[in-house]
Amino acid sequence: MTAMRPIPRQGLLDIEAYVPGESSAPGVAKVFKLSSNETPLGPSPRALAAYKAAAAHLQDYPDGSATRLREAIGRSFGLDPDRIVCGTGSDDLLHLLAHAYLAEGDEAIHTTHGFLIYPIATLAAGARPVVAPETNYTADVDAILKAVTKKTKVVFLANPNNPTGTVLPFDEVKRLHRGLPGDVMLVLDAAYADYVRRNDYEAGIELVATSDNVVMTRTFSKIHGLASLRLGWMFAPEPIVDVVNRIRGPFNVSGAAIDAGIAAIEDVEHQNRSREHNTRWLEWLTREIGKLGLDVTPSVANFLLIHFPQTKGHTAKEANEFLMARGLILRQTTAYKLPNALRLTVGTEAANRLVVGALKEFLGQQ
Ligand SMILES: *Cc1c(COP(=O)(O)O)cnc(C)c1O
Repeated sequence: MTAMRPIPRQGLLDIEAYVPGESSAPGVAKVFKLSSNETPLGPSPRALAAYKAAAAHLQDYPDGSATRLREAIGRSFGLDPDRIVCGTGSDDLLHLLAHAYLAEGDEAIHTTHGFLIYPIATLAAGARPVVAPETNYTADVDAILKAVTKKTKVVFLANPNNPTGTVLPFDEVKRLHRGLPGDVMLVLDAAYADYVRRNDYEAGIELVATSDNVVMTRTFSKIHGLASLRLGWMFAPEPIVDVVNRIRGPFNVSGAAIDAGIAAIEDVEHQNRSREHNTRWLEWLTREIGKLGLDVTPSVANFLLIHFPQTKGHTAKEANEFLMARGLILRQTTAYKLPNALRLTVGTEAANRLVVGALKEFLGQQ
């Protein structure tokens, strides 16, 4: 029998579409969006100026290989621009990698509370997502290695991870890499690398440079404050760069994104300001929320995961409603298998203080 309508490939209807963090609270005039890990400091003023100037050239196709941007990234990290590919956000690159290296019958591993794009990209490529358990909300190298089978083609690891904010030290990432067969690609998603202040951490540059099966992805959406422009990049071995360049959109990065991205990556002072703001308020929020008696998973990123008790009146769901009614929008993490937690993005000083005050009130402590 002929189907009466177009039928998508097997597996696609198993995908739960990604639900972004909420951005409005019904009936509340002033809202603080702390649900999508956006920077409270906004983009570099120089990036903003470059973006506005790009308006003069909207009729022209952008440089399809984003050469000047790749060179600027290369200068800033000491990398060969030929080993960099830019994308429409790093989500774009994660999907391209999945499409290029996964097929029906293959498996891709991610961890229990790993970033939701990984199972989506895996299923979209027709492959099977395999979940490796975490320990203390942190990726567990032994569990990942145990999940590897002959069918494994990709391991996705967000380091630091979203939504937990936890991180694997470089030694552990290296141990993971050593344990993987050479034909398994290790994707190190370093979206939050810019915020990490630990000397046992390495985003992935060294591993990519010294191996044939590691890819590091980065984004302009977080510390650079350009989430709306959709801009990310990856650093990878030459053969992987070659493959992704064959299948990506020929103009996947807009001219405005190229220009703003160059200005952003060159504005080191703005990045430092953002990092310092984050370090200060991440510590403050962790301490103050901890004092309220709530468990906070220690985070190295620009957000933190707050755990709520399951007692009626004090649950994450009720806390979310209470905060929402006050214009404080956090991220519910049920889709991340964390129904008793909320993820809070580090905000402006005013937003941070309001959140702590509101939580205190919610818990009946004032
Ligand atoms: C925010 C985020 C990204 C960035 O996605 P873009 O498409 O570049 O905006 C990538 N990975 C993780 C884990 C993230 O949280």
